[in-house]
Amino acid sequence: MKIRSVFDGGELRRELEESGIDAKFVGIIWKHLLLNLKQKESEWDWEKHVPSLPSSTYSLLRSNFATPLSSSLHSVFHSSDNLTSKLLIKLHNGEFVEAVIMRYDTRLGIYGGKPRPGGPRATLCISSQVGCKMGCNFCATGTMGFKYNLSSGEILEQLVHASSFSQIRNVVFMGMGEPLNNYSAVVEAVRAMTGLPFQLSPKRITISTVGIIHAINKLYNDLPGLNLAVSLHAPAQDIRCQIMPAARAFPLGKLMDSLQEYQRKSLQKILIEYIMLDGVNDEEHHAHQLGKLLETFQVVVNLIPFNSIGTLSQFKPTSEQKVANFQKILRGTYNIRTTVRKQMGQDISGACGQLVVNIPDKSLGNADPLTDIEDLVI
Ligand code: SF4
Repeated sequence: MKIRSVFDGGELRRELEESGIDAKFVGIIWKHLLLNLKQKESEWDWEKHVPSLPSSTYSLLRSNFATPLSSSLHSVFHSSDNLTSKLLIKLHNGEFVEAVIMRYDTRLGIYGGKPRPGGPRATLCISSQVGCKMGCNFCATGTMGFKYNLSSGEILEQLVHASSFSQIRNVVFMGMGEPLNNYSAVVEAVRAMTGLPFQLSPKRITISTVGIIHAINKLYNDLPGLNLAVSLHAPAQDIRCQIMPAARAFPLGKLMDSLQEYQRKSLQKILIEYIMLDGVNDEEHHAHQLGKLLETFQVVVNLIPFNSIGTLSQFKPTSEQKVANFQKILRGTYNIRTTVRKQMGQDISGACGQLVVNIPDKSLGNADPLTDIEDLVI
């Protein structure tokens, strides 16, 4: 029997309505689940931990949904500076996904000679698939192929697990998988995140895509207000195809047209992610090509220092000097806001470089998980 997550909002709502129970109880059920996160599964009692529901709801919950979550927290790794925590989450089918919490204190930075406003905040980087079919050559996840689309509940449960460690303010879909290849589950999960009891602001949720044009074309109508990040990684179609085979199906010209239209509707800046690969896409002429390509857009370019993923990788990182020069051209010649991504959590393999879930095998005495996930942008 399929084990369903009670955080699969669509399924829970349908079950309630088919039993004549008001769907408004969805938010109440979730609120109590969040309040009782520390409760052991073996001691879970729906009546006690989710009180005041219509009595028929309890048998429905017991017989149709996992108790209380469909996934479990397998292990947690904290970086030595405690700014990054990587959660390894086991799904009901035995597969694993990662979610990474990144903690910042904006007051520590200086902007315009003054301390930045704000305060401590935590961003959660989550996965939308186990594996990925896009096969980007610089990405460890690409090497494992596609295995499984997460349900909306499994996506949401990553936020639920993370909430027991930090109060999450931002969510970025930059973990394992291409979110727009699991479109309906991602849309449902984001809608749930912005409702009770999570109540995240849409503008604090970022979906990162390699550029699935047909999905971008409908994204604004389905999820207005969220942030869009595009893994562009090259200023020309031939280089994109060389490092991102899936780009063949999404010609650069058509992708830029689709982004133009998205921006016309959303009136929001688009984040452009650009991984710096030595000798591939990091020369001065590439910076000028990129600047010209983006001249008519409102964008922030995030230059991502490449993390070598061991012997599998055919690429080398760009030198700091070359990254700085690239940034200078985009800023100085094209007036494009350009940042260089900060690396976090490298000691727990939680920094940018993409992900392959590798469970520490205690029987072999190997407690060093090789995992990874794309890091944060906002
Ligand atoms: S970079 Fe993103 S889209 Fe490309 S293979 Fe890795 S996870 Fe998939």
